[in-house]
Amino acid sequence: MKNFAYSRAETVEGAVNLLSQQANSKFLGGGTNLVDLMRENIEQPDALIDVTRLLPARKPDAGITELPDGGLSIGAAVRNSAVANHGLVRERYPLLSQAILFGASGQIRNMATTGGNLMQRTRCYYFYDDAARCNKRKPGAGCDAIDGFNRMHAILGASDSCIATHPSDMCVALAALDATVHVRGSGGERSIPMNDFHRLPGDTPHVETNLRADELITAIQLPPLPFARNSRYRKVRDRASYAFALVSVAAAMEVENGAIRNIRVALGGVAHKPWRAYQAEKAMVGKKSTRETFLLAADAELRNARGYGYNNFKIELAKRTMVSVLSELAEAGGVR
Ligand SMILES: Cc1cc2nc3c(=O)[nH]c(=O)nc-3n(C[C@H](O)[C@H](O)[C@H](O)COP(=O)(O)OP(=O)(O)OC[C@H]3O[C@@H](n4cnc5c(N)ncnc54)[C@H](O)[C@@H]3O)c2cc1C
Repeated sequence: MKNFAYSRAETVEGAVNLLSQQANSKFLGGGTNLVDLMRENIEQPDALIDVTRLLPARKPDAGITELPDGGLSIGAAVRNSAVANHGLVRERYPLLSQAILFGASGQIRNMATTGGNLMQRTRCYYFYDDAARCNKRKPGAGCDAIDGFNRMHAILGASDSCIATHPSDMCVALAALDATVHVRGSGGERSIPMNDFHRLPGDTPHVETNLRADELITAIQLPPLPFARNSRYRKVRDRASYAFALVSVAAAMEVENGAIRNIRVALGGVAHKPWRAYQAEKAMVGKKSTRETFLLAADAELRNARGYGYNNFKIELAKRTMVSVLSELAEAGGVR
């Protein structure tokens, strides 16, 4: 790992200023992804700006506040474990709490921050192996995953340049909830809908998000969503713990008189970004909350899915996981 300068930001303005002063600098959250990327020489920043002190106070749940409309604001420096264990998150957005608790390990969740989780990079083996061709690591180099061992790779929204997946569990729940990412840069503040925050690979897989180079993530906002009390996150993986998702499903459902009134579904482990299942949602609204409806919805969402050999099984796995989660939600309290 090459030498780098370290500084600690005490305010959001200070963090943005430090970033603009030093070319090739990076924000440091818990360091649980960035330090690995630096050790592997995939990222070589000249300077790190520690943004973990940007909490209003040093209490574990500081930075999580209820909004006047009933939504929640979660500061970017709040640790993943604090979000997962917060009473209002568990009560109002159980899918988010579950998604975080299915990720990584207790120690990592205690370090990892909300902002860092959004910005974590793919776990594609070829991205980490500098003997392999990877358009994400070296634009124009090619992609060894497409004809390689692609068991964990994308089945939706991939391109001829890249079939990597986004690794986050938390972000899948945020996509289902229609969260908003609040950012601050030298030009001021703006907010980005969660479903526009991460990008599909296209010809530029090295550009992973719509965050600009001079911007800091300051907070995530969750909208009020009463029916999200009936929600869950299911993660299917090769080991029961400490493994990334092959397929995951985050869903929330409201059923009225046997018909689906409100539905949210997002998939993880299947695309370069958390995959909001808009086609499936469209196929379910107003329909009976039956297994047949869920099967048709899963088919609609996966209609354009494509496997690359080793990951062909994920198409059926994604459908079955969706149907199973939706059936559980219909049974568990979606009925009024
Ligand atoms: C062994 C292991 C297993 C894991 N398993 C899982 C898993 O199963 N599921 C899962 O979801 N995750 C998993 N993770 C990933 C983990 O969740 C991420 O590493 C973590 O969320 C990153 O957060 P961080 O604060 O440590 O980010 P850092 O490593 O500090 O930073 C990551 C990136 O975010 C940027 N950044 C940080 N804060 C901000 C900000 N406020 N604004 C803009 N940019 C910012 C940094 O510059 C850097 O580019 C695993 C990690 C490890 C090491």
